[in-house]
Amino acid sequence: MTLIKPQLTRAYTEATRCEGSLIYDGDGNEWIDGSSGAIACSVGHAHPAIVKAMSDACEASSFVYRTQFTNPEAERLSKRLCEKLGYAASFFVNSGSEAVETAMRSAQQYWRESGRATKTRILSRRLSYHGSTIGSLSLSGHWPRRRLAGPLYGEPTQPTPYPYRANTNETLATYGTACANELERELQQLGADNVAAFILEPIVGASGAAIVPPPEYVKRIRDICDRHDLLLIADEVLTGLGRTGRWLAMDHFDVKADLVCLGKGLNAGYFPISAVLYSEVVYERILNGSGSFELGHTHSNHPIGAAVGNAVLDVLEDEKLVDRAEWYGAGLKSKLKEMCRKHTIAGDIRGEGMLVGIELTDPTNWNNPFPTKFNIAATATKIAFENGLLIYPSAGFAGLLGGDAIIIAPPLNISEKETSMLIDKLDQTLTHLNEAIFKQRRKSHAA
Ligand code: PMP
Repeated sequence: MTLIKPQLTRAYTEATRCEGSLIYDGDGNEWIDGSSGAIACSVGHAHPAIVKAMSDACEASSFVYRTQFTNPEAERLSKRLCEKLGYAASFFVNSGSEAVETAMRSAQQYWRESGRATKTRILSRRLSYHGSTIGSLSLSGHWPRRRLAGPLYGEPTQPTPYPYRANTNETLATYGTACANELERELQQLGADNVAAFILEPIVGASGAAIVPPPEYVKRIRDICDRHDLLLIADEVLTGLGRTGRWLAMDHFDVKADLVCLGKGLNAGYFPISAVLYSEVVYERILNGSGSFELGHTHSNHPIGAAVGNAVLDVLEDEKLVDRAEWYGAGLKSKLKEMCRKHTIAGDIRGEGMLVGIELTDPTNWNNPFPTKFNIAATATKIAFENGLLIYPSAGFAGLLGGDAIIIAPPLNISEKETSMLIDKLDQTLTHLNEAIFKQRRKSHAA
C-alpha cells in the first residue's frame, strides 16, 4: 500500500507542477532545479514543444513491438543521431543502465562474430558509475553504490585521472598518459585476447562531480584500444547531447568511441529512453555476420520515447542549446568561482559547460576531504533543498579519504534571473553548511 522511495521512513515533498527551471509543491513553494533532477532535465520542465510531441505521438501510435513493426519516430531519431554524431546505427532502450548493458553485450557479440570469442571481458575504471543493474554496476567503481550489491561480475581495475588530487610534481599531460598506460599494463597481464572493450565516462559524472581528464589521457586510451584490438565504449549517459557544451563530451578530446551510450540528455527527463550508437565497423561486422541483433526489451525503440528524443533534438537545435551550454556554462562556472571565493570549504570548482562540480574540502586540514561521518555532500543537499534549491550530491570518490562534492547542472536554457537566484541560494547554502560543520566540530570536541 505504499510507494517505495529511497528513504523508507522519510516524508518526501510532493511536486505538483514544474515549469522551465522551477518546481512547485501543492502549497506553492518553489525550488530552482539547479541539478536538472539527476542531471537529466536538460531543456527545462514542461517544455511546450516536447509536451506536444509526446501527445501527438501517443495519438499516432502508443506502442508497437520491434519484432513486428518499425515506427517512423524511432527511424527518424536514429537517422538524426547517426548523422549528427557520425555513427552508423543506433538502438533504443529504457535506461542508462540498459544502454551500458547493451553496449557490453554488443562488444562481446562483435568479437564473437569476428571469430575471436575469447574476447569477452570489459575493463573499467575505479572512479566511475555506469548503472544499477548487476552488469553495469559490476563495471562501476563507485564504492557507496557498489557495496550495496553482490556478488558482482569482477571489479574495475583501472585508474581514473583526478587532476585535483594528482601528484603535483608531474604535468597534467604526464599524469594523464601514466594513468592511460595502466590499461596497457593490465592488457599485458590478462592477454588482450580475453578483453572485448574498455569503458569510460569522458567526464566523470555522479561518482566524482565533473572530473575532467587531461586530453592526453583520452587520446592515449584510444591509441591503446586500437593497438590491442579493444572496442572503446564512451558512457555518455550523463554527458551526451549538450550537457558539457559539446554534442558529445568525447568531442572535447577529439576522440571517437566505437560505442556510445546516451541517456539523460536524450530523454531530458520526459520519458525513459536511452540509446547505444554503433560505429560503422561494429555495425557492419554484425550486419555482415549473423545479421541479427541479439538483445532487446519489450519497450526498445518505443515510439513515444523516440518522439521525445526527436523533440529534444529539435529544442537543442532551435534554441542553440549546445552552443549556449558552452558559453553560458563558462559564465556560470566563473560566477560560481567568484561566489565561492569567500567559502573556504569550496576546494575545487571544475567541469565543462553546464556541468560544474564543487568539491568541498576541509580548509583546516590542507584541503583534504572532511571526515566521512560529517556527511558533507548530503548535508549540503539537504540545506539547499530547505532553501529552495536542488543540487546533486556526490561522495566517496577520494578512495579511503571519502570525498564530498556537489554538482550544479541546471537546464541548459535556465534564465539569467533563475541563474542569479541559484547562485544566491547556493551562497546561503554554503554559509549554513559552514555553520553546521562548525557545530558538528564543537560537538565532536565536547564528546
Ligand atoms: N551511466 C552514467 C554515466 C550515469 O550517470 C548513469 C546515471 N546516473 C547511468 C549510467 C545509469 O543510468 P540510469 O539511472 O538511467 O539507469
